[in-house]
Amino acid sequence: MRFLCGIFAILLPNAFFGITCYGQSNFTVGTASAAPGQKATGYLEVPAGVDPGTNIPVVVVNGAKPGRVLALVSGAHGTEYASIIAVEKLIAQLDPAQVTGTIILVPLVNIASFEQKVPHVNPIDNKSMNRSYPGKADGTQTERASYIIAKQVVDRCDYLIDYHGGDLDESLRPYAYWGPTGNELQDHISKEMVLAFGLDHIIIWSERPTDPNATRYLDNTASVRGKPSIVVEAGYAGTVENDDVNLLVNGTLSTMRALRMLPGEAHFIENPVWIEKLSDVLADGPGIWYPLVKRGTYVSAGMKLGTITDYFGKVIAEPRAPVSGVVLHINAVPSLKKGDNIADLGVVAAHAP
Ligand SMILES: [Zn+2]
Repeated sequence: MRFLCGIFAILLPNAFFGITCYGQSNFTVGTASAAPGQKATGYLEVPAGVDPGTNIPVVVVNGAKPGRVLALVSGAHGTEYASIIAVEKLIAQLDPAQVTGTIILVPLVNIASFEQKVPHVNPIDNKSMNRSYPGKADGTQTERASYIIAKQVVDRCDYLIDYHGGDLDESLRPYAYWGPTGNELQDHISKEMVLAFGLDHIIIWSERPTDPNATRYLDNTASVRGKPSIVVEAGYAGTVENDDVNLLVNGTLSTMRALRMLPGEAHFIENPVWIEKLSDVLADGPGIWYPLVKRGTYVSAGMKLGTITDYFGKVIAEPRAPVSGVVLHINAVPSLKKGDNIADLGVVAAHAP
């Protein structure tokens, strides 16, 4: 093969720069193994333990040209559909002949949530699949899956994007998270990634765990291991709107251009709204929710967000905005029980970071 490749290199100078033939080998994640210039599918196999095992689909796009490794992970919450469909579209769209480096795509971490239409958690063990990193080899299914994703995906990549959105009960406006670590070069790269992704509201996620054994979230698991990473959110309440899916697909392609993994120029968003603080409004008890504001509305501190009645229609609460800011997401359904998230408000930063 080396001989043949040499001939191609002479005939086609571009192939020489592609280094397709010299020193590049298969890239394997789980059971997906792709030769240079190829795309392969397979599974991250989570063996049975204290509860059943699962097989998480994984795709490797091994670029024709060698380079860095980008991981795209979606569906930790299996009913945040727009983000899952966006990664499915990227599986179809990414052409290994155009890619420099390697892309690992995990479109649906939480299969049981997707199949059973259960929001927020993995119904097998009732745990969120984005709170248990770096996981445990002998834990419950969520912990074992997190352990395998940390080893097979996080440890193998150079950059990571985690995709989310509004869950079945969340009406969410699109936004991204940028989590600075204090490492100047890493933070510069992750900031370029989030600006290239292009979502116009960006939460500055600071003061996060720095102990690699206590990172909980996927993006933080990657960032404490030195890999620039961001979280992106679009879609809401079970819908798969083209606008949301396109934001996530086009944002990914632009970020890949910024990382020099695809040809073409990245588009960097100018003057996004930076959010410096989040404020949750939680339900005191059960009731029926009647919202007065929508996702994306800017509210002043003290403004009424909606009313809650008992099951006889008597008003029992009128939650108000604890801060001035933007409604990042608001409860999308009438059901409320104690502790449910009614709204999540973002406080706009006085200065860009
Ligand atoms: Zn999520």
